[in-house]
Amino acid sequence: MSSATLYVVATPIGNLGDLSPRAQEVLRSVAAVCAEDTRHTRPLLAHFGINKPLLALHDHNEDSIAGRIVARLLGGESLALVSDAGTPLVSDPGFRLVRAARAAGVKVSPVPGACAAIAALSVAGLPSDRFLFEGFLPAKSGARRERLQRLASETATLVFYESSHRIAESLADMAAVFGGERPAVIARELTKLFETVLDGSLQDLLARVDADDNQRKGEFVVMVQGVGDDEAARLAEGRRLYARLNEHLPPSAAAKLAAELSGAPRKALYGQGGSD
Ligand code: SAM
Repeated sequence: MSSATLYVVATPIGNLGDLSPRAQEVLRSVAAVCAEDTRHTRPLLAHFGINKPLLALHDHNEDSIAGRIVARLLGGESLALVSDAGTPLVSDPGFRLVRAARAAGVKVSPVPGACAAIAALSVAGLPSDRFLFEGFLPAKSGARRERLQRLASETATLVFYESSHRIAESLADMAAVFGGERPAVIARELTKLFETVLDGSLQDLLARVDADDNQRKGEFVVMVQGVGDDEAARLAEGRRLYARLNEHLPPSAAAKLAAELSGAPRKALYGQGGSD
């Protein structure tokens, strides 16, 4: 094994004060920094008086460039990997590089710090002993609802990343699929000037986001409480009924009847191909 290390360094998600002293030290010590967007990372490093060669590593070139980066590590140079914000590899590039470095026997070491999902969970007041990080939902409503339907009977707290473009649509789909009463929390612009953490039922949160343009601006983590055992049982029964009824009835009629009989939300019962 070469003595060089690939350091995976978390960077701030808004407040520059969150770049730890160790992260600064590591970024100062390495031969070069692999960055998702060099235009973004250069000013961050400059703010801390760090001047290092930057190597662009993003989703579109990661496969082709990973080999070259691993060759440098094997040649004895320590390098750092950063993304635009937060922890690399968490809905960010780096997975293929880390896998290639590990496969080549290179030491890969974390320099932990900000991560929007964990920061959001830490202030949400939702159960956090078990959570399921789902990252970004699909952009298209059909695929998004299908993903949500697969999560409808999950008992762990669900954690999603969302952008300003889709926050309202995604909340509307969550309310439709999970039921409007489900408790949820929206963490917006964490560690920044307009940091806001809203809690309530999904329908409540949707109404607040719809009513106020400002609540649709910035970056979001949406967390949804998992279902209790009773609700999980209702959903399981509803799905079983839906599957049987759908052998004889159109999907919408089968879902309506299965929802009535089981007490589960109708939209949570649609399987692949359900459309309303
Ligand atoms: N790797 C990052 C991390 O560790 O959190 C996440 C990168 S992902 C491309 C960007 C998404 O993270 C945003 O769309 C938003 O959902 C979430 N996010 C990032 N910064 C945030 C912040 N300050 N407040 C709330 N959500 C944030």
